[in-house]
Amino acid sequence: MKWLAFLLLPLFFGSCASDQAVRNQAEEMHRELEPAILADQELVAYLESMGDRIVASARELSAAKKGPKAHFKEDTSWMFSTERFHLVSSDQLNAFTTGGSHMYVYTQLLASCATEDELAAVMAHEFAHVYCRHVHKGMNRQYMTLGTAAALGVAGYAAGGEEHGDEYMGYGLALGMLAGNFLSLGFTRQDEAEADRWGFEFYARAGWDPARFGDFFQSLIDKGYDTESDTFSDHPTLASRVQAAQAQAAKLPAEAAQWRREPVAGKSMFAAMKARAVAMTAANGDKAKAQAKLLLRSVPSCLLPNDTKEQKDAQAQLRAAEQRARAQP
Ligand SMILES: [Zn+2]
Repeated sequence: MKWLAFLLLPLFFGSCASDQAVRNQAEEMHRELEPAILADQELVAYLESMGDRIVASARELSAAKKGPKAHFKEDTSWMFSTERFHLVSSDQLNAFTTGGSHMYVYTQLLASCATEDELAAVMAHEFAHVYCRHVHKGMNRQYMTLGTAAALGVAGYAAGGEEHGDEYMGYGLALGMLAGNFLSLGFTRQDEAEADRWGFEFYARAGWDPARFGDFFQSLIDKGYDTESDTFSDHPTLASRVQAAQAQAAKLPAEAAQWRREPVAGKSMFAAMKARAVAMTAANGDKAKAQAKLLLRSVPSCLLPNDTKEQKDAQAQLRAAEQRARAQP
């Protein structure tokens, strides 16, 4: 067993994450998040109708060979046939994707959107992370962690002696990797800007109002979230994201006027969906879901210039759990 982990280390460090690896990891993470998913048929159907519109316009762009280089690196058909959209119960203002077939929208985010355009913009941005294979990059960074975890698994094996060696090795790896999966989900500023750019394309082609793409970011500015200067932010500032969206809207071709469609939900239906999500979140508070909620809270922000204190606290808790797992005798 010992020699096997060492033999695998160069593979972890030298290779690039494949679609299959990212999708497998996404399924693994999904199992951990399942307790926090709201299984409300109306809400799920609503998110899926919106998601389907986004995915359909992304498929058109892909067929027209439009997208970043990374999009065309491997077969893309799975991206347009397997994506599922989940509403998760969480008090954080976030949405994220694990790069495979799952996108998660937080109830707090839905509750904070004033219009369907705002929600659609966030979802289109998230799908762009899948389209541009940004999670693959995070997973490459994570191979480093995995390499370390494998090495520590070996240390656990040695410490456990011949008798319990395999048992310790499995334990150390499983916990260490679970925390690592979630801690590696953050994107770079360049990735965020790229996801905004392609997300805008999907959103506009799917029929929502191009002039409204930056509205949600503007609402965050109005709430005081754009507090730090560009140099100190982990992500592009909200102001720069609003500006970029407006510039992109101004450059749309004349034919873009024909892309416009009615929103999936009219104003009153949208308000009803929000109220429903808030009510379900309140009813979803039991203790068994604590771990799923901690994991959701730890996911780095796709929207705010910097992670909130709650997000950083949750990340610190995961790191501690990871270290505890590694320190197991
Ligand atoms: Zn993002």
